[in-house]
Amino acid sequence: MQAEIIAVGTELANGAKLDTNSQWLSLELAEIGISVRAHATVGDDLDMMVDTIRASANRSDVVLITGGLGPTLDDLTRDALSRFTGAELELHPPSLEHVKEMFARRNRPMPERNVVQAMFPRGSQPLPNPRGTAPGIWLTAPRPDGKTCGIAAMPGVPSEMKQMFRQQVVARLDAGDRIIRRARINCFGCGESQAEEILGDLTARGRDPDVGITAHEATITMRITAEGGSIDEVRAKIEKTRAAIVNRMGEFVFGVEDEELEHALVRLLRLRRASLSTAESGTGGLLAHRLTSAPGFESCYLGGVVVTSNAAKREMIGVEPQVLEQFGPISAEAAAAIAEGCRTRFATDFAIAVTEWPEFDPDDPLAAVPASFVALAGPNLLTVEKVQHFGDPAIAKSRTTKVAMNLLRLHLIQG
Ligand code: ATP
Ligand code: MG
Repeated sequence: MQAEIIAVGTELANGAKLDTNSQWLSLELAEIGISVRAHATVGDDLDMMVDTIRASANRSDVVLITGGLGPTLDDLTRDALSRFTGAELELHPPSLEHVKEMFARRNRPMPERNVVQAMFPRGSQPLPNPRGTAPGIWLTAPRPDGKTCGIAAMPGVPSEMKQMFRQQVVARLDAGDRIIRRARINCFGCGESQAEEILGDLTARGRDPDVGITAHEATITMRITAEGGSIDEVRAKIEKTRAAIVNRMGEFVFGVEDEELEHALVRLLRLRRASLSTAESGTGGLLAHRLTSAPGFESCYLGGVVVTSNAAKREMIGVEPQVLEQFGPISAEAAAAIAEGCRTRFATDFAIAVTEWPEFDPDDPLAAVPASFVALAGPNLLTVEKVQHFGDPAIAKSRTTKVAMNLLRLHLIQG
């Protein structure tokens, strides 16, 4: 099965908006074994749309269109489909009822123009849209080679499109005979090449399932892709490879799929019924931001402060002035004092401190590598880690917060 995707909208063609629908649909189609061989983006231009739909429908089994189903004059997808199939637009009364109902629920009169959203090319099927006014359109068109092409037109609004695709479109597609499943395992604390070395033969080219390694702001992700004839077969393959990876990567592994370090850390803190507070300088609150993005943080993350100046470190955290004078604010001693002060002020089991770091130019090969210090204080515990900032300054904050969270994560799983 071969599919093509057409994104409709002048704002997409001119670059004002990014077409994310096509990417999402391609990944979803791959999951059910349908490969996508082309994306097209067209502005709100009727002739251009008809040409594009014709070209795609004549050579592919499936064409998915998003956008241009709204009520305004520049929403032309239904006209383009009518023109392409040669089928007149006709009113579908149940769809009109739905459109009217959507307006009634919002206590607004329905403008006359919205009637057009209940018009469909004769012979096509309306696809209900519980989230919005515009129903989608499903039709099949004959191909020059005697086969047929299934065409779905869906709304441009991503949330409406996704729901319609899953609830209405998938069942209408003849799934391909190969099933593809993916899984991700997330690690922190090792480099990409070190991970490759540890994984060895698991990352060999042509291996089934395939294992790829990617890095994003110092998080290393192993991506498993398995193919097979049945769901059970691919699941079993993924499980086996996942177990092998987790076994080799050990404590570097902190989560799967979309899980971030903050999710892993909050989960561990709750499990241990332990509390945490933070005091940050260089990361400017990013650590607090991340921790408060993890579900359930309220029961373990009790608070944090941003202490960029020495005065803030003294007054808000109670750091002794001599420590800052003697060792400077960017020192292991300062980090330790901030962590301990923070732990006392917030009365938490653990406290994490992050110092600032000097500005740096990554393109200057002679410049000293700047460093910051991350400290962790806890019951009978005070450790400091030096974080060296080579590479991209843009990820220094992100990476530092991860080093800090990982320090506590490792302590919690080891202790
Ligand atoms: P509506 O009834 O809301 O007008 P529509 O089907 O006409 O729906 P558009 O008007 O093309 O859809 O787009 C509606 C919204 O969805 C816009 O905010 C647009 O930027 C967004 N959108 C449209 N197409 C895409 C796309 N391919 N990727 C991401 N966002 C999109
Ligand atoms: Mg629109």
